[in-house]
Amino acid sequence: MSIRQRLYPSPEQAAALEMHCSHARFVFNVGLEQRKMWHPFKRHTFKITAASQMRELTEAREAFPWLAEGSSAVQQGALRDLDRAYRNWWSKPSKFRHPTFRSKNERQGFIIRTLKVQRLNRKWALVSIPKAGKIKFRLSRPWADVAAAKSARVTLSKSGQWHVSITTHPAPFNRTTTGKMVGIDRGIKQTFSTSDGVHARIPTLTKTERDKFLALERRLSRQVPGSARREVTKLKLNRLRDKLRNRQNDWIEKATTSLVIDHDLIALEALNTVNMARRAPARPDPDNAGGFLPNGAGAKAHRNRGIYAACWGKFARRISDKAATTPEHHRTQVILVNPSYTSITCNECKHISKENRESQAVFHCKGCGHKAHADTNAGRNILDRAHDKLPLDGRSTDASATHWAQRQA
Ligand SMILES: [Zn+2]
Repeated sequence: MSIRQRLYPSPEQAAALEMHCSHARFVFNVGLEQRKMWHPFKRHTFKITAASQMRELTEAREAFPWLAEGSSAVQQGALRDLDRAYRNWWSKPSKFRHPTFRSKNERQGFIIRTLKVQRLNRKWALVSIPKAGKIKFRLSRPWADVAAAKSARVTLSKSGQWHVSITTHPAPFNRTTTGKMVGIDRGIKQTFSTSDGVHARIPTLTKTERDKFLALERRLSRQVPGSARREVTKLKLNRLRDKLRNRQNDWIEKATTSLVIDHDLIALEALNTVNMARRAPARPDPDNAGGFLPNGAGAKAHRNRGIYAACWGKFARRISDKAATTPEHHRTQVILVNPSYTSITCNECKHISKENRESQAVFHCKGCGHKAHADTNAGRNILDRAHDKLPLDGRSTDASATHWAQRQA
């Protein structure tokens, strides 16, 4: 787990951080190029490993004064980063991609391995960074979380803000058993709806911010690529994106904390958010060879779907993370269930039909006449499926008894 905190370097310190970023990128890319050239069937005199690359880095630092000016710890960190990227890819090629060259236009950053942090007061602390000295950062988490950390990554966002992401063990999550269970349905209109009838929506940009965003996008499209003005517009757009992301992350943290505190069991749909974010498949036009029919995947729709998928993925992940660190005797259990037909199945009589869904919000069963909010009905189906997945002895818990008592009432 990592805790991301805003870093406030002075202009001189920022220059040193930028130097570290460019050195880390350079060393990573050279190391990657070297590894790509290695091939098992070529007759190499030696094998390329993290250790051999470290030795060559030492030689390179002797040969190039500009490289020697930077920090060897940061440069070695970049090689370790590369090594880990390869190890990840070797162990799980389905999940990790082959390492790629780092570009100057992506988010910049570097790793520090021996982390030294020092607390100033309740809100501020210092982190020691080679060649830059002690840099102030904002403490938005309990000091105990930060103090125990061993390594960190310093990053520069596209909107020009520095952050330090501190890798640490997750702090234990305190709660006591409540005897309550909940099923959560995800959606686009309501970000989530519970089986108890609670609906919540993730914050977005305000009307003013959205207008500003659209105006900036229009301006960007008219500007000459590579011009200084265009860069300014890009920076402004990225600031708005950061603002939105921070606002949404904050909301996700608060919403997931209260869900985990309140419930002994949380049922979620097992969703493949990677597939959700994928583009709609192209539809060739049968009457016009080489042409395509509209597939409902306008640029905007695609982008929005990506954002929802990312938010939902994070939401589910934070619930699992927090639940995993709840105390053993007051554990919150998370169960993932098959999401098929949860939105069109009647929770009372289990009748499945598309017609049950009278509108986005209204569920009216054509089998038994049961009427409910469509999302609440789906939330209840999700909870029921989780309950069916529990081992038989697990169903006799207090939480389960309360759940069935509530259902009877
Ligand atoms: Zn029904």
